[in-house]
Formats: sequence, structure tokens, C-alpha cells
Amino acid sequence: MTNEELWHTALEELETSVSKANFVTWFQNTSVAERQNGNVVVCVPNGFVKEWLEYKYHKTILKALRNISPDTRNIEYVISSQLEPLLQKHKLQRGLEPRTSDEQLEFRELLVDKETNLNPRYTFESFVVGSFNELAHAAAVAASKNLGAVYNPLFIYGGVGLGKTHLLQSVGNYVKKSNPRLKVRYTSAERFTSELVASMQANEASSFKEKYRSYDLLIIDDIQFIAGKTKTQEEFFHTFNALYETGRQIIFSSDKPPASIQNLEERLKSRFEGGMVADISQPEYESRLAILKNKAAGKEPQVTEEILEFIASNVQKNIRELEGALNAVLARSKLSGQLISSAEIKEILSKNTQPKKIVTANQIIKTVADFYSVNEKVLYEKTRKKEVVKPRQIAMYLLREDFNGSYPYIGQRFGGRDHTTAIHSFEKVSQDIKKNAQIGEEIKRIRERLYEYDGVE
Ligand code: ADP
Ligand code: MG
Repeated sequence: MTNEELWHTALEELETSVSKANFVTWFQNTSVAERQNGNVVVCVPNGFVKEWLEYKYHKTILKALRNISPDTRNIEYVISSQLEPLLQKHKLQRGLEPRTSDEQLEFRELLVDKETNLNPRYTFESFVVGSFNELAHAAAVAASKNLGAVYNPLFIYGGVGLGKTHLLQSVGNYVKKSNPRLKVRYTSAERFTSELVASMQANEASSFKEKYRSYDLLIIDDIQFIAGKTKTQEEFFHTFNALYETGRQIIFSSDKPPASIQNLEERLKSRFEGGMVADISQPEYESRLAILKNKAAGKEPQVTEEILEFIASNVQKNIRELEGALNAVLARSKLSGQLISSAEIKEILSKNTQPKKIVTANQIIKTVADFYSVNEKVLYEKTRKKEVVKPRQIAMYLLREDFNGSYPYIGQRFGGRDHTTAIHSFEKVSQDIKKNAQIGEEIKRIRERLYEYDGVE
């Protein structure tokens, strides 16, 4: 694994553990310049960043690096202008090669386009569509093909790491590619606010206004950030109107729907609701697997289907975590030169995801079968014997509740049954729990067994 790959992977993890503003401020233009005997040299742009990383983020960075490369012992932060002499020194000592231009090129991929502020990596082509995001995706595609004409504004909301930024930027990249003359701008509400404040302090508010009113497509990410900021909302309202009235396209993302954003002016809420509002929900098992397959394709080393399934079953919260887990697995495999064992993956996952117990579909089915003393295989057969039907239904119920499996997937798991059977089982058991305390007690005991299963916490 090259230094670039190591740092790239670490940054992806760090991005999830610090706020976006902090991430951009403190990690932009950083890199790993050197690695030797567990000592990592992180290159930073200036002394200010050096101090912050040393005092505030050292532990977090160390943890991220150790996740990928467990033999990491120490980190040294070096200001880039002082790096050359240091590298020279090391080079003399050990005949080390300087970084190749290929590696530098690879690193440049992290950079965004200056004019549009778009990251070229976010495209519709690399965006996997499933039932959890298909409405938002369809709306985004329609808006990019009919700028300002169909869904204006377009408002996409959903939890963190579910693909809002990716989808918004895909629109920008698509539009810029299909019509390079159009003026496209992507920004976060946070950045919009700080630019506004800076322009006012510098007495340049009018050029700020002019600039923002010149775009054909304006994309504002995480608009919930302007809640409670009266001045920003005021200016934003006027910018919005100026663009809207001249038929320019505006796209927003937010962590919640307009009506639920507190301390947001009513007139802005109603503007946001005036076009199309679409949500992105949590991906179900098949979508998680499809995303993993997509991300793993063409990457080295090749990861087996089984490993992807394992990750998809266990990382359920969001797509960023899913990616993080896959990258950690890839990085670790690369480092050791062989695909890692499932025990090692469990270890990585337990570090990468929120602390929670991890159960797989197999464990659920096996535990239920054991609990009711039936043979696991009988559960997949067509038999309607009472002593089989009940555990089968409970297993299906738990696959839905605790494993978040989709109904078609659950049906498939049980000998290729139809998804309606899975729905029926789920509903039947949900009803039974309400009516019959005994069932509730049994499920509780099954869960107790299940979650002490293999000690992964
Ligand atoms: P959000 O802005 O909602 O917090 P992001 O757009 O930053 O989420 O997505 C987090 C990560 O997951 C990104 O690396 C992104 O490329 C990836 N991702 C999200 N949704 C998808 C998807 N549908 N297909 C492929 N990758 C996705
Ligand atoms: Mg985002």
C-alpha cells in the first residue's frame, strides 16, 4: 500500500469522526510523506494546522491509522516547507526514492474543480440506485435534464452518509459536462455563510450578491445550517428569489424536511417546499450489497462475495460507513498480502461502526432453530407442521427487525418463498407479540442468546 492509499483511507475514516467544517479546515492539503518502522510522517501546510493536529486530533488520527495499519506506533507532523530538507536527510540515510509523479497525480484526485467547487468523483454513473433512494435519484436526473423547468427548487433530505452530497454533485457534474458554458456552483450552506460574512466585513457585499446571482445552477448542501442565522437567511432569501424568478435551477440538501428545520424563516420554508421534496432513506440489505459490489469492482485485492455479504449484513447505518468498512478490509488485505479472515473483518467492523452487536442472517436462523429444537434445514422446506411454522415465522420476523433484511431477501432465504410470505410472517408475529406475552418472552430469550453469540461488541 502506498502512502497515498494509506492516507486516503485514513482521511475517509477521519471524515466520519470530525465535523465537516473541521475536516476541511484541518485536513485539507495534508498527506503522508514517509513511513518507517511504524513511524508515520504527516505533512501539513502550516504551523497552525500542525498544532491543531498535534493537540486536538492526534489520538483520532492515530486510531484511524492503526485501524488500517496496526503496526503504526507514532506520528510526526511536519510543515511541508520544512519537509524537503527532512526527506533529503532520510533519503541520504536510506537511499529512499522520492514520491513518484504518479502517486502525486493520484493524490490530486482529492482536489475539487476551482470554478464549480465540484468533486469530479461524484457522478450519476457511480451512484447506485435502490428503492431507498430512487425517488431522489429520479428527481435529480430529471432536474439536470430540464434545468429550472421541472423541479425547482429540488430539495433532497436524509440522514448522514446516505448520498446527498454525492447526488447533488452528480447533477452539477452532469450539467457542466453536457453544457460547459453554463455557470454551475456547488457550495455548502456553511461556506455560503462564511463567504457572506467575509464579504460584508470587506465591504464587498455587492460583488458577493452579483456572483451568486450569476449562476445557472446553484447547489447548496446542508441548508439546515442556516437555521437560526437571521442575516444569512435574509440574504439567502433574496439570492433565491433572484435566481428563481429568472428560471435558474436551485438544489438543496438537508438532514430533515423543510418543515422540520427549526429556526428557519417561514418564507424560506415555503420556498423550499414550493418545488420537489424527495428523501433518501436507509438502504436495505440488497442495496447495501449492490453498493459494496460496485465499490469493490476493479479494486485490488478482489474481495469475495462472502466478505461483501458479511459487510453488507453487519454495516447497516449508512453508506459512508459501508465504504469505510470495505476500504479498511481492502487496506488490511493489501498490507498482509492475502485476503483477511472473517475474524479479522469482525475486528475491523467493530472498530469502524458504532458500538453495537453484530448478527448475521445465519446466526439468527441458527439461534431460532436451536431455541425451538428443530433442524435448521426443515425451516427452508415446504412443510406446514405447526412445530416448524412457528420458528420459521419468528426467524423471518427477526431477519426483518434485527437484520434489516428486505422482504424479497427474507423470502429467498427460506427456500425461495415469495416476499408476501415474509410480510405475512412479520405481521403475524408482530400481532402475536401484542396478544401473547409468552411469544414476547420467547423472542426476548432468543435475542439474549443471539447477542451473546460471539462476543463481538
Ligand atoms: P451525505 O451527504 O448524505 O452525508 P455522501 O454523499 O457524502 O452522504 O455519501 C457518503 C459516501 O457514500 C460517499 O463516498 C458517496 O460516494 C457514497 N455513496 C452514497 N450514496 C451512494 C450510492 N447510492 N451509490 C454509491 N455510492 C454512494
Ligand atoms: Mg453531505
